[in-house]
Amino acid sequence: MNGCITPRVPLGTVNPNALGSALNAGQPAQLIMALDRIIYNGLYCNVLRGKPQPLKRDWSAGMSQAKYIFRWDDISPRQDRRKFRSLVDLFVKYDVPAVLGVIPDNHDESIAFEAQNEGKFVVELQELERAGWEIAQHGYRHLKRTDNGGILNLNAVSEFAGRSHSDQFADIDAGKKILTQYGFSPVTFIAPWHSYDCWTLKALADADFRIVSDGLFLYPRMADSLIQLPMIFWTAPRRTKVLNRLGAVYTICLHPHLLAVDDLEGLEHFFKTERPRVVVPRSMLDQKEYLTKRDLKKRMLEIGFSIYFRRQG
Ligand SMILES: [Zn+2]
Repeated sequence: MNGCITPRVPLGTVNPNALGSALNAGQPAQLIMALDRIIYNGLYCNVLRGKPQPLKRDWSAGMSQAKYIFRWDDISPRQDRRKFRSLVDLFVKYDVPAVLGVIPDNHDESIAFEAQNEGKFVVELQELERAGWEIAQHGYRHLKRTDNGGILNLNAVSEFAGRSHSDQFADIDAGKKILTQYGFSPVTFIAPWHSYDCWTLKALADADFRIVSDGLFLYPRMADSLIQLPMIFWTAPRRTKVLNRLGAVYTICLHPHLLAVDDLEGLEHFFKTERPRVVVPRSMLDQKEYLTKRDLKKRMLEIGFSIYFRRQG
């Protein structure tokens, strides 16, 4: 197994729906704030330092500003154009960028709705990229190749996890070549069904990807040359006060063909207050200090998050 990057994911299998709804309901707030007060600002630190210290009034002082990333999966020339366009229109109205997970060579008929119209599709994506959006690679053919849930184990199906490094690299590289022919230079990879293993990470690094979007944690991590960006929401969060104070990076995964009216209203509500915090993954490439700084506070918050959601699983 020489050369295989060791994944650092603290969580076991969790129920992502329970996770998202709990965060939406603000339930981790009490746990995380209590943990923070006790360990970082409170008695524990005072005892260790041997002298009384006043409690900090702002428990989030010194934290980075929270960031939100909107990631759209299953983008291809045969996507549901009407739903895709209505979602684009909403994002453009509020000047919100997104990262589009493009399937280079879609063979998944369950997400193929229209006749192939590659030229129009590519022009549309190029326009969005010029407007600050990001084009990412979402697998290769979106085919179910194994029943391996990978590191996150959210779905017992994968295009990559469980296959050899060379097979995974061949598919990732073939997909990247197609996107390159379209005129894009993807640096972010999104595995179908959230399923990837350590060999996927190595193959991605070998194919010069810089970011992998997925992981049930709060703060981005470095896995050798790859940045792992967490992804813990499937809808726009309704309550953002505590999320903003945690200073984490939150990715919201959307599937345009599955969106309902309620989802669009939720997005609109979110954009009205949180638009300035929305970024695209590649903007993290020049945030090295933020990515590598793992202070005590972040570690404890991450542990609190992990413990809480293990119980939710
Ligand atoms: Zn997908």
